[in-house]
Amino acid sequence: GFKCGIVGLPNVGKSTLFNALTKTAAAQAANYPFCTIEPNTGEVAVPDPRLKKIAGIAQSKEVVPTRISFVDIAGLVRGASKGEGLGNQFLANIREVDAIVHVLRCFEDEDIAHVEGRIDPAADAETVETELMLADLESLERRIVQTRKRATGKDKEAITVLPMMEKALALLQDGKPVRLLLADLAAEDLHILRSLNLLTSKPVLYVCNVAEGDAAGGNAYSAAVEKMAGAQGAKSVVISAAIEAEVAQLPEDEAAEYLEAMGLEEPGLDRLIRAGYELLDLITFFTAGPKEARAWTVKKGAKAPQAAGEIHTDFERGFIRAQTIAYDDFVRLGGETAAREAGKARDEGKDYVVADGDVMLFKFNV
Ligand code: GDP
Repeated sequence: GFKCGIVGLPNVGKSTLFNALTKTAAAQAANYPFCTIEPNTGEVAVPDPRLKKIAGIAQSKEVVPTRISFVDIAGLVRGASKGEGLGNQFLANIREVDAIVHVLRCFEDEDIAHVEGRIDPAADAETVETELMLADLESLERRIVQTRKRATGKDKEAITVLPMMEKALALLQDGKPVRLLLADLAAEDLHILRSLNLLTSKPVLYVCNVAEGDAAGGNAYSAAVEKMAGAQGAKSVVISAAIEAEVAQLPEDEAAEYLEAMGLEEPGLDRLIRAGYELLDLITFFTAGPKEARAWTVKKGAKAPQAAGEIHTDFERGFIRAQTIAYDDFVRLGGETAAREAGKARDEGKDYVVADGDVMLFKFNV
């Protein structure tokens, strides 16, 4: 599955947020048999109102959302790149995630110490980013020596990756994250960059943890983060971890009342999960029948056989074609049979690029 790693300095609200996420996940667990929750990993359902609509139309007995994972990555302190605190463990954990959710303290509370003794989320972001850049710089400087040698010796693989390594190294030496390269890379280069698995090449979402009273509109701190994120081509969301912790414990009707009283339309976690999903560059396709309506996840750009493979590896191997109905057609026409009669059920082959919202039915050989 796809994983977002939650990082941030100590005492910014990471655990509070993560616990709220896993409580929500635990509450869902009874309905979703494949939900496993490890101590620092929580799998959560991706909220998607389209799924309920599809299930209603297809009169499905079960409704199964798609899921992503969040990993609580503790242990980041100044000096982590040099092995301070849980430095090495921290860096290893972060290497394993697909995207980074960076929690920033945007609340004041004299009883809760800040490691730097002041509230300044943009400066905190820089502290964390610096550690990640130093770790990347060190690992890249070490690796590039070998690669340069091998490239001189006409090693094909080394010749392919070396230019990207040099580009990344130049950025890091200039004090910039490798992420900045992502904006205009061809698919092939993107693949090479990903294969280097650098910490600062992972996409980042900033989470502004604000006081309860600021949850609806944000505050000056979160505004500063939004500005910083914008300048980096990154996104930010405003959340009150304290509210989320509270909501996660309440029964559904009370939670709705509480949220309304706070001026919120939905749990911040729903926004966070959806933002994480976007950050990972994922799209959703659906399967729908009387037994179940289900949402599935693929990377943007995935082709029909890969989508089939999400359901079962046999489906990918034996893929023949996929009956595909756009979500809007499925809903507007009122289901599969009507869509087929209206000529809106397309037969798509192995080169079809899956579109977000497609309702699919796979034909395959076993
Ligand atoms: P972590 O070290 O980043 O995992 O931070 P924790 O989640 O353990 O939070 C550190 C302390 O800050 C705990 O005492 C939390 O109850 C408190 N805290 C977290 N979020 C908020 C918040 O939004 N407002 C206030 N006032 N306290 C918070």
